[in-house]
Amino acid sequence: MLNIHLTSLFALLIVPALASAQLPGRQVQSVSQQALDIHHSGILFDGHNDLPWQMKTKGQSSFDVFDISKPRPELHTDIARLRTGGVKAQFWSVYVSADTDMAGDALLQTMEQIDVVHRMVRRYPETFELADTADDIERIVKAGKIASMLGIEGGYSIQESLPILRRLYGQGCRYMTLTHSKSLAWADSATDHPRTKNGLSPFGEEVIREMNRIGMLIDLSHVSVATMKRSLEISKAPVIFSHSSARAINDHARNVNDEVLRLTTKNGGVVMVNFYSGFITSTEQLRNDSKDLGKLSDVVDHIEHVIKVAGIDHVGIGSDYDGVPRLPVGLEDVSTYPRITQELLNRGHQRQAIHKILGGNVMRVLREAEKVAARQRKARPE
Ligand SMILES: [Zn+2]
Repeated sequence: MLNIHLTSLFALLIVPALASAQLPGRQVQSVSQQALDIHHSGILFDGHNDLPWQMKTKGQSSFDVFDISKPRPELHTDIARLRTGGVKAQFWSVYVSADTDMAGDALLQTMEQIDVVHRMVRRYPETFELADTADDIERIVKAGKIASMLGIEGGYSIQESLPILRRLYGQGCRYMTLTHSKSLAWADSATDHPRTKNGLSPFGEEVIREMNRIGMLIDLSHVSVATMKRSLEISKAPVIFSHSSARAINDHARNVNDEVLRLTTKNGGVVMVNFYSGFITSTEQLRNDSKDLGKLSDVVDHIEHVIKVAGIDHVGIGSDYDGVPRLPVGLEDVSTYPRITQELLNRGHQRQAIHKILGGNVMRVLREAEKVAARQRKARPE
C-alpha cells in the first residue's frame, strides 16, 4: 500500500517535470526576477475563488478536515500556494446551487457558506482579514495579509428580498452575480431560457438600484446578453464580470461579446478573465482532444482581447479556482499567477499596465462604487 502510494506520489511529482523538460512545446516558462518584482509589488485581486464550495462538498465545511495551512493537493487553493501566487486580495465565492431557488433554502445555504469564509478568516488570522472597503484592502495588504471579500453567486440567494440583500452586505458580501446557470423570475442566465422581457423584471431593476445605493458590486458573469445590457444601462456604478472571458476568441455563452465589452468601457467596469479550459479554448477543440486543456498563453490571449476592445482600464483576473474541473497547462493552481505576469511582460506590457490587470482596475471600480453609494445614501437614506 505504502509502495503504491509512494510510487504514485513519485509519478505526480517527478514525471511532469521530466515531461516538460523533454517536450519543449509543453514546457511551462520559468518566471524571471523582473516579473516576480512586478507581480509582488502590485495588488493581485482575483475575482472568483470557489474554495468555500470545495470545503462544503469535500471537506465537510471543516478546516480540521481540510486544514489549508497544510498542503492540500486535492484543492487548487491552500495558504502556501496563495502566498507563492502573490494573491493579495480575493473575492471568495459563497456560491450555492441554483436548485436551492426551487427548494427555497438558498439563503440558508448561502449563510452556511458565508460562515465557512468567516471561520477561515478567524482560524488563520495571520493570513486573512475581512475587508470592508478598498481602503481597507490597502491597509490589510500593507499588513502582509490577504484581504478577503465575499461574492454571492446567484441572485436567488436573496430570495427576492431587498432586506436580505442588505443583510448580506453586512456579512461582507461585496458583489452579487445576478444569476448562476438558471434564469430567475427577475434576471436571465446566459445558459437558460429567458424569463423576463428585457433582461430584468421591474424587481430586478430595483435590485440593481439598491445594490448601487448600498455599494455592492453588480456582477454580470453568468447572465444573458440582454441582462448584461439592461444592467449596464441602469447601473450608476461600474459593474464587474467576476469570472468571464472573451467571446470573440471562444464563442461560449459564458463569455463576453465585443458589443458588451464596449458598453463596459462606457460604464467604467471591469471584465475579470476566467481560466477555465472550457471557456478559453474552443469546445470543438476540447471535444476532439479531451487532453487539450488549453495553455497559459490562451488565457493571456483573452486578456489581450479585452484590452484591445475595452481598454487597459477594463480588464482583470477572475480565475475560478476550485470552481472548475479543468485548467490550462501552466495555470494548475493558485501558485501559478506569476506566470501570467511573465507572459504579459514577454508580450511587451509595462509594469503599470500589468498592475492594472492584476487588480488595480477592480480596486478603482470598488472605489467608484463606494463613491456612488455614498452619494446615493445621502440622497436616499434608509
Ligand atoms: Zn461561476
